Amino acid sequence: MKVPILDLKPACDELRADLDAAYRRVMDSGWLLLGRELEAFEAEYAASVGASHCIGVANGLEAMQLVLMALGVGPGDEVIVPSHGYIATWLAVSHTGARPIPCEPDPCTYNLDAERIADCLSPRTRVILPIHLYGQTADMERINAFAEKHGLIVLEDAAQSHGARCRGRAAGSLGHAAGVSFYPSKNLGALADAGAITTSDAALADKLRHLRNYGSKVRYQNEYQGMNSRLSELQAAFLRAKLPHLDTWNARRGALAERYLRQLAGAGDLILPSVPDWATPVWHLFVVRTSRRDPLQRHLAAKEIGTQIHYPVPPHLSKAYAGAGWKRGDFPLAEKMAGEVLSLPIGPHVTADQVDYVCEHVRDFFGSA
Ligand SMILES: *Cc1c(COP(=O)(O)O)cnc(C)c1O
Repeated sequence: MKVPILDLKPACDELRADLDAAYRRVMDSGWLLLGRELEAFEAEYAASVGASHCIGVANGLEAMQLVLMALGVGPGDEVIVPSHGYIATWLAVSHTGARPIPCEPDPCTYNLDAERIADCLSPRTRVILPIHLYGQTADMERINAFAEKHGLIVLEDAAQSHGARCRGRAAGSLGHAAGVSFYPSKNLGALADAGAITTSDAALADKLRHLRNYGSKVRYQNEYQGMNSRLSELQAAFLRAKLPHLDTWNARRGALAERYLRQLAGAGDLILPSVPDWATPVWHLFVVRTSRRDPLQRHLAAKEIGTQIHYPVPPHLSKAYAGAGWKRGDFPLAEKMAGEVLSLPIGPHVTADQVDYVCEHVRDFFGSA
């Protein structure tokens, strides 16, 4: 048996007829940007999240960057970001000229630790930018309470959490605004780069509709110095074909996660994902931790089981931030995670047999078969 870490073809196969129809609709219309498919997708996605507005953009990085731009965040401002996460979140802040201020994770959920945000606060802090990492929301009740007390904006990075819930409310509706990615491997993925912003702030939504299109909603009338960050009609049409399947596909991920949790309990020093009672995760990734991560990864590779590390280098130690003054030891929890986390195969088209095969070889590695 072979278990790749990611295979996008089965999803295309399952929805081939719908995707073909979406393609034909756009070809027949002859309209390729800022048209009816985008408008329809924006309405459908906003409804699925429970937000009043959705603004389609080119990708998840620019979704967050555009929100920060729209809020006037820039040089001299600080944005609190997770020390453990994907570098795109930090880049969205850096591209505005503001400074990302890393906050260490909760060691159980790996998400931004609401207890520690206070340590990152300064008179320059404008925004808290939690990631709902690996498909599980951050503790938004406490993050929002802190933000309210200190007059801060909360921007969610919802790139890994399509359909995830926090106390019954969907990711993307839990802060002031959310940046979403539809990168092909996400739980809801387009067939190329794509992204969106969700918000229930009408004025912010209107500004974002300008900012994604050179600062203009009416041709040649430019209200702001905007970007070119549009979600194409074709990708919007593909996303409309896929959105109705999101809940079913997330449920399949959930069943596989349950299977992993059952079969891997007690294997070696393996630490399994922990889910607080208020969280409903969508298992974008299934991430385990062990002090013997690299040998485990090699053991699984020898059995043709694909794994990945999300993420091997914490952003503060990446070359991209070499000039920012951080050094090894500054964010010990993020550094420890980077050395211990391993993502096992999960997805709507991974089979129960494949998960059983992975579990067998993980247990075998720890001598607890
Ligand atoms: C994928 C991802 C992004 C970036 O999205 P793109 O569409 O690739 O720009 C940002 N943050 C997180 C947590 C992601 O997983």
